[in-house]
Amino acid sequence: MRIWQEFLNIVREESGSPLVETWFKAVELKKWDTIEKIAYLQAPNAFVQEWIINHYMHLFIRHLGRLLNESSLSIKFVQENNVPLPMANSLSPLRPAQLYEAPAGRKISPQKVAKIYPNPRDPLNNNYLFENFIVGPSNELAYAAAYAITENPGKLYNPLFIYGGSGLGKTHLLHAIGNTIKQKIKKVRIVYQSADRFIQEFINAIRFNRIYQFETKYKDVDILLVDDIQFISHKEQTQEAFFHIFNTLYQSQKQIVVSSDSMPKDIVGLADRMRSRLDGGLIADIQPPSLETRIAILKKKAENHQISLSDTIAHTIACAAYLNIRELEGALIRIIAFTTLTHQEITIDLVKKILTQAPPEHKKNFDLPLIAQHISRHFSYSLEELRSSNRNKKLTLARHIAMYFMKKHTECSLREIGTFFARRDHSTVIHAFEKIEAAKKKDKSLCEKLSRLEEEMQF
Ligand code: ADP
Ligand code: MG
Repeated sequence: MRIWQEFLNIVREESGSPLVETWFKAVELKKWDTIEKIAYLQAPNAFVQEWIINHYMHLFIRHLGRLLNESSLSIKFVQENNVPLPMANSLSPLRPAQLYEAPAGRKISPQKVAKIYPNPRDPLNNNYLFENFIVGPSNELAYAAAYAITENPGKLYNPLFIYGGSGLGKTHLLHAIGNTIKQKIKKVRIVYQSADRFIQEFINAIRFNRIYQFETKYKDVDILLVDDIQFISHKEQTQEAFFHIFNTLYQSQKQIVVSSDSMPKDIVGLADRMRSRLDGGLIADIQPPSLETRIAILKKKAENHQISLSDTIAHTIACAAYLNIRELEGALIRIIAFTTLTHQEITIDLVKKILTQAPPEHKKNFDLPLIAQHISRHFSYSLEELRSSNRNKKLTLARHIAMYFMKKHTECSLREIGTFFARRDHSTVIHAFEKIEAAKKKDKSLCEKLSRLEEEMQF
C-alpha cells in the first residue's frame, strides 16, 4: 500500500531509519476500514506488536491519521489466519491476544508528542555526534576528515565527499559535522538535506514558481550538507541547479559536504562537470567494519543502555549482523528490548533465537553467510579463505559459485555481495555470475554440481 510506504518515509525522516528498519518494516497495513475508521495492522510476532503498541502508537495516530485524513482512527493488530504468534507462545509471557486493540488519541496528547520529537524544521539530529561515533580502521579516514573540517570549515577540504555502503555512518558523520560547527560558531547557517528531498524541493519550486526562494535558501548558507547525492543521477535539471549552488558556495569558500553510496566516478547519470566538482576536494570512504570494530560498537551501544555484554555474546551478535552498523544496532536493540520485556538474562541461546527471528527484510542478509558457509564447507575451505583475496584456482571457483548463488537466490544488491567478499566491487560479482553461467553451458558436471548444491541449500 502506498500509504504505508509514505508512512514509513515520514517516520524514517522524523525518527531515523534504525527505528523503521528495526520495527516498522516488518509490519504491514492490511486494511483500512473507512466506516469504522480502523486501520488493521499485522506484525510478524507478538513481541514486535507489543513493543510497537507500547512505544510507537503515537506515530500511527499522528501520521497514519493524517495520511488517511482521519483524526480519530483506531489501530487494531490482526494475525494471519488466526495462527498463534510464535513468540507469544514460546518465548514471551505476553498474552496471546487474537486482536489487540489500541484506541486512538487516549494516551497521548499533542503536547506530549511535540515534546518527544524535535522540531522537524531543525534539520540536525542531536544524537549524531562525533563523541558517539566509534572509530576503527574502516572509518577513520572519513571520521578524521569530517572532524578536521569542523575546525576550519570551507578552508581545508572542499568539498568533502564521503562514500560508503548503506548503514555505515555517512548520515551520522554529516550530522556530527553540523552539530559541532553549530556549537563552535554562533549564528552559522547550516543546511542539511538529503538529495531526494532536494530534488522534491526543486520540483516544487518550479511548480509553484519559487525558484528564487529555493536558490536563496541554498546559496545563503555557510555549511551545506547533502546526503545521498547518488539520487541526483539522471536528474539533469536538478543537477544543474545543484551545480550553480555548488559553484556559488565554493567560490565564497563555504563548506560543502556530500555523501554517496559510491565514488563520483561510479555514480551513473552524473554530468561530467558535476562529477569533476565532486572529485575536486577530499574523497573519504567508509568500509564495512571489521569484527573487532563491530564488537566495540556493540559494547559501547549496550553501555549506553546500561547493559554490559560479555565477549562471547558481543561476538555472537557481531557475527550474525555483519553487513552494516544499522543492522548491528537493530539486532542489539531487539535483543535488549526482548530481554528487558521478558525479564530474561541475555544468554547465547536467547541471542541466537532472537536473531533468527529477525523480520524478513533482515533475513535476506542472513542468506549471504549461509550460502558462503555452505559453499566453503562443500569445497573444504574456511569462511575466511572464501572471503579472502587469495586467487588460488579452486578457491576462486568456489568463490565464484558462492557469488553466483548469492546473486541468483538473494535480494542482496551486487554491492552488498561484493562487500561481503573482502570489499570487491559490484563488477566482480557480475563477472563471477557471467563466468559461471557460461561455464554451465559447457561443463555438464559443473551443472550437476550446481543443481546438487541448490538442492542441499533448499533454494
Ligand atoms: P548511512 O547514512 O551510511 O546509511 P547512518 O549514518 O544512518 O548510515 O548509520 C546507521 C546507524 O548506525 C546510525 O544509527 C548510526 O548512528 C550508527 N552508526 C554508524 N556508524 C557508527 C559508528 N562508527 N559508531 C557508532 N554508531 C554508528
Ligand atoms: Mg544515510
